[in-house]
Amino acid sequence: MDKKRDILDMEPDELAEALKALGYPSFRAKQVYKWLYSGCLDFSSMTNLPKDMRVKLSEEFTAGGLRIANKHVSKVDGTRKYLLELHDGNIIESVLMKYHYGYSACLSTQVGCRMGCAFCASASLGFVRNLTVGELVAQVLSIMNDIGDRIGHLVLMGIGEPFDNYDNVMRFLRRVNREDTLNISYRKMTVSTCGIVPKILEFAREGIPVNLSVSLHAPDDEIRRRTMPVARSWSMDELLKACNEYTRITSRRITYEYSLIEDVNDSPEHARTLAEKLKGTLCHVNLIPVNTVEGIDFSKSSRERTEAFKKVLEKYGIAVTVRRELGSDIMAACGQLRRNTLMMEPKKV
Ligand code: SAH
Repeated sequence: MDKKRDILDMEPDELAEALKALGYPSFRAKQVYKWLYSGCLDFSSMTNLPKDMRVKLSEEFTAGGLRIANKHVSKVDGTRKYLLELHDGNIIESVLMKYHYGYSACLSTQVGCRMGCAFCASASLGFVRNLTVGELVAQVLSIMNDIGDRIGHLVLMGIGEPFDNYDNVMRFLRRVNREDTLNISYRKMTVSTCGIVPKILEFAREGIPVNLSVSLHAPDDEIRRRTMPVARSWSMDELLKACNEYTRITSRRITYEYSLIEDVNDSPEHARTLAEKLKGTLCHVNLIPVNTVEGIDFSKSSRERTEAFKKVLEKYGIAVTVRRELGSDIMAACGQLRRNTLMMEPKKV
């Protein structure tokens, strides 16, 4: 095991302290910080530092410790999918999407996931460990480096449950928001949870205006418990109560994610049940025709059923959109690339 500290895991004042202890003046810490957050993760390339300091830094520290193991670029829309290898050989995946407003990176928060959603490509592969703050930061910096451009938006919707790695995720959000790091506005960040109620309430009180998405995927407890084990811990009533409390505290609109699975949760009756529960609340529903995953017996709802579902919600005055699919030719959806890679090389799980 590597005994070096990950420099990206350290807060600015911690780094300043560590460099001071090594005998460097404080402006050196600022220089190092500037290099790191401009995407330079190789100490030997930090050309305005004395040579012996560059050597010392690489003896003492690592910087994120991850490398791009594989990359797919969509020919259809330019979406990029990255398989990233961590220092311990584990792999995660991240996706970069290009919108008219700029680049948005979809990040993983854990190696694997323990939430076990029935339709998810990552569920059956199990949970390995949380990502560190340094690894979360390195995901963004590695992608930034690869494209040679700034990333303005972040969505924590890759592999893992962000609220199951709550403290690191909060530190990460605060870190990349800083002016002396990536200066990404909180309003351009989104965290997605499968519905861990106490953490939604804690998040409401963090005092950072980051967007919240909640994966609902069902109109009632019976269906939700069948597809999402987390629903056995908290009922939909409890979940929606927490969401409304979040809105009351933050005045922010929640996005509910709803993956449409044919004949499971996509009938007009299901739409009415859902609408009755959401009407009058400050929310937005994002409908996603479910992505089929090899070995999982679910089908995508047809365009007609998706439209019919949408119309019912609209009749109740609920804001609703259908998510555009990006990167369909490169398995950009939801953990599919990692799943396929691990299935081919099971030793890495
Ligand atoms: N654990 C978090 C974030 C990661 S998953 C969460 O549950 O919100 C990001 C989103 O993709 C979630 O809404 C999740 O339910 C959804 N998702 C997972 N597998 C999917 C699939 N096969 N098709 C469509 N959406 C899926």
